[in-house]
Amino acid sequence: MEYLSTRGGCSGQSFEDVLLTGLAPDGGLFVPAELPRLSASDLAEMRDLSYAELAWRIASMFTAGAFPEDDLRRMVEASYAGFSDPEVAPLTALGEGEYVLELFHGPTLAFKDFALQVLGRMLDHVLRRKGRRVLILGATSGDTGSAALEGCRHSAQVDICILHPHEKVSDVQRKQMTTVAGDNVFNLAVEGNFDDCQRLVKAAFADQSFLPPGLQLVAVNSINWARIVMQIVYYIHAGLRLGAPERPVSFSVPTGNFGDIYAGYLAREMGLPVKRLIVATNENDILHRFIGGNEYSIAPLKHTWSPSMDILVSSNFERYLFDLFGRDSTALAQFMADGATGKASLSEARWRAMREVFDSASANDATTCATIAEVWREHGVLLDPHTAVGVRAARATRESVRDPEAPMICLATAHPAKFAEAVTAAGLPAPELPERLQRQFRRPERYRVVENDLAALTSILGGLAV
Ligand SMILES: *Cc1c(COP(=O)(O)O)cnc(C)c1O
Repeated sequence: MEYLSTRGGCSGQSFEDVLLTGLAPDGGLFVPAELPRLSASDLAEMRDLSYAELAWRIASMFTAGAFPEDDLRRMVEASYAGFSDPEVAPLTALGEGEYVLELFHGPTLAFKDFALQVLGRMLDHVLRRKGRRVLILGATSGDTGSAALEGCRHSAQVDICILHPHEKVSDVQRKQMTTVAGDNVFNLAVEGNFDDCQRLVKAAFADQSFLPPGLQLVAVNSINWARIVMQIVYYIHAGLRLGAPERPVSFSVPTGNFGDIYAGYLAREMGLPVKRLIVATNENDILHRFIGGNEYSIAPLKHTWSPSMDILVSSNFERYLFDLFGRDSTALAQFMADGATGKASLSEARWRAMREVFDSASANDATTCATIAEVWREHGVLLDPHTAVGVRAARATRESVRDPEAPMICLATAHPAKFAEAVTAAGLPAPELPERLQRQFRRPERYRVVENDLAALTSILGGLAV
């Protein structure tokens, strides 16, 4: 399998290449030159596989040749063995034809574990073979940091350093990062805000001369292709559980950077019968405005109860647009440039083609809390605020989803205990931290406070690497 860039300036890349790269050198995102397909009989045959077996089968379609099959299988099995539910991604029924897909049974209680547990192992495998080491550097205020730290803490060839804004993240968020054990795991609390953290990371990537020779910085942000691949699996797994390939399903997906829902789109393109994909946004609703009204324009950032979806522009959306534009890089680049400076829109025909696949809805904080309370009252199921945005969107768009026979699967992207403030704002008692997190939080916190200054950061980073 070969990969090419959405901007047309780079092709013939291997899985290994894209694993170690973020943006393509031409500023685009990597996508497979050709997507593997699953026929109805392929899907039917996968119905009885365990989650890890299915994940291994799907991963091997994209990694072709990068890992010996047995090694890949071991990495995938080890990744999902650490999940606290034996089903890995269990489905819970809400109302008639309405389900919640629980993606929060991994070590950090959010769906990002599905990808980052495997990614850490894949990186380690490739780097060991090449005899190389990398330093993963990232800034986070949310779920990615802890999931990346957990995913890499066993990786011998990887050091990982995550920046967070000092005293500007919740106690739970901070402790999830600072209590991760591992000699290769470092947390820095920057005396600044989240934007300062991101700016420092960007500057460090731009000039890596502070690193010892041979060492390289790597990002594991949401554009990493390997992350997308591992997220395709739970769409197929859930679809098969609810009757695919004979019966179609729909998904409602709380969306920020469009990585999660893009994986759903790929599952559909590969052959899973998916009726509709619902893009669920909070008040940062660029995608909802675009899908609903064909206007793609950036609006100021709002801080909401669902912070992991507080984004201006969804980085992975470009991957979908590339397909929508018939893989025409020039048209795509023009659209992105128009969108960045003012507004962009699609031809009527393209917009309709997009709406064949996607529908959308957005929920504000008040509606999010009302949905948490409503679902608790009706079904005794406690949702986290991101998931609540998804359930709200599923209910808001249900009528427009043409096939009432297709069950609606709402992705539950985080455990409610991670976002207790939103739950109490919904008038419900704060959920208890799951046992696994309570245990982790008894460990000592390890982090270092650092000035909001590039030289201060690079001198620490230069000293970390061995
Ligand atoms: C990251 C995240 C999202 C958004 O996922 P994208 O892939 O960025 O669309 C939604 N919910 C939670 C809890 C998250 O951590």
